[in-house]
Amino acid sequence: MFEGKKNPITRFMIADKSVKCVVANLNNLISDAIDIHKLGPIEQLFFGRGLVAAALISTTVKGSDRLVLNLESDGPAEGFVIETCANGQVKGYPKVNPIPASPDISSFSQIIGEGFLSVSKYIEDTATPFTGTVELVYKDLALDLANFYTNSEQVPTAFLLSINLSPEGKFLGAGGVLIQSMPGAKSEILEKINESVDFFVSPGVYFANGKSNSEYIDEFFSEFGVSSVFDSEIQYSCPCIRGRFKAYLGNLPKQQLEEILAEDDFPVKVNCFNCGEVYDFSKEEVEKMLHKLKLEDKHGKQI
Ligand SMILES: [Zn+2]
Repeated sequence: MFEGKKNPITRFMIADKSVKCVVANLNNLISDAIDIHKLGPIEQLFFGRGLVAAALISTTVKGSDRLVLNLESDGPAEGFVIETCANGQVKGYPKVNPIPASPDISSFSQIIGEGFLSVSKYIEDTATPFTGTVELVYKDLALDLANFYTNSEQVPTAFLLSINLSPEGKFLGAGGVLIQSMPGAKSEILEKINESVDFFVSPGVYFANGKSNSEYIDEFFSEFGVSSVFDSEIQYSCPCIRGRFKAYLGNLPKQQLEEILAEDDFPVKVNCFNCGEVYDFSKEEVEKMLHKLKLEDKHGKQI
């Protein structure tokens, strides 16, 4: 398991409560992800932006529901899986790390390539998620995610997903902005907001300089009339426990457990994709799992 450092996230309304906004300073969350996954500069830009997006949309999740972003593409990055929930937790993993360098790649969109982005909502106590998927039209996470919300969910949305690196590739700061119009928002207001977003300082640059969410909001949103400000916290967090990995091993097919017993060095090591924690299982434990499966074959599964 892993509990990262907290990050301030602020939600608020503008334009007579017709537009919902979120600003998040995610310096700590991205630093933690860099440490956990040993991310290089390209991986920080690719996977880091995914984490910033998930942190922002965590504010749209209710109760004990969970939301999973799954990017799947044919470029060298291949994609990522990132999960978030309403109580301010984000975790995930890049599908390829490090992303292989290729001499014929000249732009970031080529690192992503063609593919799909899906957003799955797991409602509490239900096994099957509601999933919406969009094609990666822009090969830019902020634009493709905005396209998902605007066209699939019919909620006009804009994202700023910002990872600030030095020219040498050293991580300096991270943050994001989410702007989502509510039903009834006036089109001229939305146009005005759209125009001003082009002049926003990139949140990763702003927060690298030690500034706060409220300073960002004052500087860039005050002209739209800020109200209903709500501050909370978000962190990289993986509440994984040994028991879940034990259950996973115990549910492998009999033949696979036999292979593990025949070949593997003990203890068997299973590591969590999301936080890197390694769980050890002794030979005796794996033997017990196999014995249990054999008993179940004979007598049926005990409930
Ligand atoms: Zn974990």
